Amino acid sequence: ANLGVSRGTVESAYAELMAEGLITSRQGSGFYVLPHAPGEVRNPPLSGGWPAWQGRLSYGGCEAMSAYLPEVSRKTDWIALDGGACDPRLFPMDEFRKLLGQVMRRDGVSAVEYGEIAGYRPLRTTLAQVLASQGIQTDAESILITAGSQQALSLVTGLILSPGEAVVVEGPTYAGALDVFRARGLRILTVGVDEEGMDMRELEAVLSRHRPGLIYTIPNFHNPTGACLDGQRRRQLISLAGRFDVPILEDDYVGDIRYEGRAQPTLKSLDPDGRVIYMSTFSKMLIPGLRVGFVVADGPVYAHLLRSKRCHDLATCNLIQRALRDYVSVGRYHAHLQRSCTLYRRRRDAMLAALERHMPSGASWTRPKGGLFIWLRLPEYMTASDLLPRACAEGVIFAPGGNFFLDPADGEGGMRLNFASNTEAVIEEGVRRLGRAMVGA
Ligand code: PMP
Repeated sequence: ANLGVSRGTVESAYAELMAEGLITSRQGSGFYVLPHAPGEVRNPPLSGGWPAWQGRLSYGGCEAMSAYLPEVSRKTDWIALDGGACDPRLFPMDEFRKLLGQVMRRDGVSAVEYGEIAGYRPLRTTLAQVLASQGIQTDAESILITAGSQQALSLVTGLILSPGEAVVVEGPTYAGALDVFRARGLRILTVGVDEEGMDMRELEAVLSRHRPGLIYTIPNFHNPTGACLDGQRRRQLISLAGRFDVPILEDDYVGDIRYEGRAQPTLKSLDPDGRVIYMSTFSKMLIPGLRVGFVVADGPVYAHLLRSKRCHDLATCNLIQRALRDYVSVGRYHAHLQRSCTLYRRRRDAMLAALERHMPSGASWTRPKGGLFIWLRLPEYMTASDLLPRACAEGVIFAPGGNFFLDPADGEGGMRLNFASNTEAVIEEGVRRLGRAMVGA
């Protein structure tokens, strides 16, 4: 067929791909895409069953992250509705100061030795108990403490996916996950989200057309939309992952910050085959700077993650883990969560009410039942990047929707607003300024 491309061009393109080790030729048969870079030791056979994981695990992936962050020079009197964190005024500073002192007196030098690669065992045991109450039957041997869940994301990605492979994400999704996937050279496939979470029909279509190596999802109070994946869709997701034989990475970054409704079962608790890797963090629900997150994974996945963790940073801070264990095990964490939920719920309501008052017609927004974020959809005639400088001029800043999409153009119609990090009065003023910025936009 005449495609308008000369034979010479095609031949030199093939030669280039061969030179890069991306394809191979078989005499009399044609060209074939190589599944991974040449020389990489990949997919050693697993002993002891684990059909869900055969041919899937590697030790690769230590590359640097690329960041996609909007460059904005902030002014101190701006109201920041763009943040990704909770309110630092709620950090239990006095309690942690005391706990750190107590741990150092009680445990002496063992508190500041490297500690186990997997993490401080009593913390893992305590976490296993907390998780059991959420339907995840696990034990200390299946929990790996990481430096925040961002590290968990990198470790899991490096373990399962090779450059050129595909990963399924929600569109929009957490910007830091897009960074990790881009840095790994993955093909990113996007599936839409509504108020009930990821669209299962779209997911099915994507899975039947492509052969992704991972589904990354944020089922509870999704970042950036606040959506919570509906119970029936959770079951559908597990069944689709089984049918198409795709692992799932469940990012439960804020699952304990719930304001209403019953907690949905975690994907991990619904998973019959050990196909779901679960991760969570203390960053949003307690203090981000502790840098403590964790992964729950089974069998060979866990063993591979442990090797990878050692390669990355040997172990997570021992002292902090000990203090955290004391904080969680005596019920203070639970009390802190309750306090935070009461306050953030009021702030969510304040933001919803302010949006009703100050948004122009044509704007719409999500009503999250938990978490930190509301997703605002702009009237059709406005784009987030046009609005951002106007909003800054009014003294308010938001996270433009483009940050959360593979192609930033797809996010022009929306923005993420954080309702958790400001007082009700500041939220009201911030949304009022946002409304003013939209007038005449
Ligand atoms: N997942 C999501 C959805 C997040 O929003 C974040 C933090 N912004 C992370 C993971 C990583 O956070 P951390 O490393 O602090 O646990």
